[in-house]
Amino acid sequence: MKKVLITGAAGFLGSHLCDRFIKEGYFVIGMDNYITGDKKNLKHLENHSSFKFIEHDVTEFVKIEGKLDYILHFASPASPIDYLKIPIQTLKVGSLGTHNLLGLAKAKKARILIASTSEVYGNPLVHPQTEDYYGNVNTIGPRGVYDEAKRFQESITMAYHRFHGVETRIVRIFNTYGPRMRLNDGRVIPAFMGQALRGEDLTVFGDGTQTRSFCYVDDEVEGIYRLLLSDYVYPVNIGNPNEITIKDFAEEIIKLTGTKQKVIYKDLPVNDPLQRQPDISLAKKLLNWEPKVERAEGMKVTFNYFKSLDKNELYKSEHKDFLKYNK
Ligand code: UDP
Repeated sequence: MKKVLITGAAGFLGSHLCDRFIKEGYFVIGMDNYITGDKKNLKHLENHSSFKFIEHDVTEFVKIEGKLDYILHFASPASPIDYLKIPIQTLKVGSLGTHNLLGLAKAKKARILIASTSEVYGNPLVHPQTEDYYGNVNTIGPRGVYDEAKRFQESITMAYHRFHGVETRIVRIFNTYGPRMRLNDGRVIPAFMGQALRGEDLTVFGDGTQTRSFCYVDDEVEGIYRLLLSDYVYPVNIGNPNEITIKDFAEEIIKLTGTKQKVIYKDLPVNDPLQRQPDISLAKKLLNWEPKVERAEGMKVTFNYFKSLDKNELYKSEHKDFLKYNK
């Protein structure tokens, strides 16, 4: 039985990856320190014979007994509100955490896949974003802690590949959504859906002409799975090229949720990218992959998930905190 370590296992993407690898017949070791992860995302795997959980912060030395075939490094805060509230941890997990996991991969002769991000492109001057674009990042802005940690992560990963011969893979993940996102993490989908459920107006930041391209989690996981098993070492964009302005997206959510509330406008967060759309030609060619789930369908599933959550979760204050920070 192949053994895979997944860091950030209690997070949104990490927990879906645990499910996928178990389904494919792997033994999964999930690791998380719960700084932004949530125990309920792994509850269903608690007594699974192919799953073991280790509570650990990967910025400290990572020790795993026995053999290890694959590592997927998905531990990281991943929402703009996290970068404001836990900036140092965000920097550390992308840099020191990645260093530890590359060291583990080298010691175990394991293949490692690193979760990078469309944020390496910053506020992109090339549209749509191709993997050969170097990006436009403000190193000292509020998002710099995430963006630069991820850029460093890509560099150290390539260095371990070139210098130590470690088998590495780098996925650049674009906005992804689905069940198990944190309802109050401040990101636009949980934010709008939470507001609709609480009967509040939807807060569009800026004039709402900035764009994003949202990928359903099952599609994202499929792309990541294929990339891990491929033999390509350079970064690959995995995301959905279906681009929409945030203003139009708010209108879509109003229709979907049937809320009677309206859109209100707030300041655009500092360095909020004005456009984002993945060019996925490379993934199509290399992995024969492209997203399959339409936004309308994925959003419905996601909204049903948020509706099913304990009502207390609806009133946690993180999103309000973001509005407070974002002045
Ligand atoms: N956004 C918004 N209202 C909110 C939360 C986010 O208009 O309540 C905007 C945000 O400014 C950005 C886009 O939605 O332009 C996507 O934001 P998110 O935090 O989901 O992810 P990002 O792609 O910026 O990392």
